[in-house]
Amino acid sequence: MDGLRQVGRRDAVRGALVLAASLALPSLARAQASARIVVVGGGFGGAACARTLKRLDDKLQVTLIEPSRIFTACPFSNEVIAGLRDIGAQQFGYDRIAAAGIEVVAQVAAKVDPQAHRITLADSSGLAYDRLVLAPGIELRFDALPGYDEAAAQKMPHAWQAGEQTLLLRRQLEAMEDGGVVAIAVPANPLRCPPAPYERASLIAHYLKQRKPRSKVLILDAKDNFSQQRLFEAAWHELYDGMIERVSLSNGGRVTSVDPNTNTIITEFGDHVAQVANVIPPQRAGRIAQVAGATDKTGWCPIDPMTFASKLLPDVHVIGDACLGGGIPKSASAAGAQGKACANAIVNNLSGKAPETPRLTGICYDTVAPGYAFSLAGLYQPKDDIFAEVEGGGTSALDAPREVRAHEAEAAQNWYRIITGETFG
Ligand SMILES: Cc1cc2nc3c(=O)[nH]c(=O)nc-3n(C[C@H](O)[C@H](O)[C@H](O)COP(=O)(O)OP(=O)(O)OC[C@H]3O[C@@H](n4cnc5c(N)ncnc54)[C@H](O)[C@@H]3O)c2cc1C
Repeated sequence: MDGLRQVGRRDAVRGALVLAASLALPSLARAQASARIVVVGGGFGGAACARTLKRLDDKLQVTLIEPSRIFTACPFSNEVIAGLRDIGAQQFGYDRIAAAGIEVVAQVAAKVDPQAHRITLADSSGLAYDRLVLAPGIELRFDALPGYDEAAAQKMPHAWQAGEQTLLLRRQLEAMEDGGVVAIAVPANPLRCPPAPYERASLIAHYLKQRKPRSKVLILDAKDNFSQQRLFEAAWHELYDGMIERVSLSNGGRVTSVDPNTNTIITEFGDHVAQVANVIPPQRAGRIAQVAGATDKTGWCPIDPMTFASKLLPDVHVIGDACLGGGIPKSASAAGAQGKACANAIVNNLSGKAPETPRLTGICYDTVAPGYAFSLAGLYQPKDDIFAEVEGGGTSALDAPREVRAHEAEAAQNWYRIITGETFG
């Protein structure tokens, strides 16, 4: 990891010099020199944005702030939980990003001073910026579900940020005796990757069918309807008849509290004691977005969809799961597309050009068993100040034959190779 390093005193001094320089120059002249862009968060959105910025204009000074030296990807992590994939296939380093001329700083961004155009890192050093891109993903709300805090997550894993939590849920499934109940608590929208809880239920059922066939999956849902519902339900009927039960919002499925001591999930209509309890809590934009003042009362960041510019802070852009994306689901696919479009908007703006209307594509594959997947593709454009879905997308046919499902499962693997290659490789 030669290109990676911690920020120290030297950077703080350099930051101060850049700040002094930035105050002395009119903004367009500064942009045409070598604008300094800081990207916070090296996930699918932030890493794509940093790479695109550098590719569009090699003179830009691009810094990526990301505390983890190894990124663990959520897409396909449900396969890790089901024992179909090694966690190593989810992990990526930042060497190639550093090799592209991007300064990668292994730190947490702690504070933003939007007026001074300055960001403070966890070790108290500072960095000046001309443009800041916030791509911190989500924060799990440990204040939203009574009984569910960080300690409870060690007994009732969420596995909604991949890594240790993914492995914990896997270990719990392996340790469970046949005949047990695996409960999945699903929050209301908006959440990261809306179809992923149902993909998880399917793949856990696949594991149980092979290894613990008397066991069941119980989905306790704060929603009545969900993404790709008809496709999921048809697949459950075909592959896992009777193994997956879902209690919808109208039937009392909304989880109101949990008791980690007894592994009990309490809903509007009753208590469920689970042998394995996967509790996915409500979410909001990553903490730094809140600390910076980029979030509104929804907990997410309002943006101008033409440029991803924050509606609340000057010279700050927000991309990925953290932003209020209108009709765009919170997905890696969308975060990557937003990262590229945001980079384009920043480069145009720095060189005094009018913004181009972004046209984003997002595709989401759901794998319900090895060799059995379906997908949802969407096209999104700014409309009435938010992103709206426009014509051109589509979903897999409900009555498609198994060869098509197998073909989509292969396409899903290819998609993962391409997006992780483009982002980290
Ligand atoms: C189980 C599951 C399955 C999924 N499957 C799919 C799928 O098949 N397809 C798909 O498209 N999407 C899928 N997703 C969704 C996808 O993972 C997210 O939408 C995507 O990761 C969002 O990208 P992001 O860049 O906004 O956030 P992230 O990828 O989470 O990256 C955010 C980064 O910011 C860093 N960060 C946070 N705060 C700070 C700070 N203060 N300072 C510095 N760095 C910070 C974090 O360490 C993190 O690396 C899935 C999600 C889950 C949970």
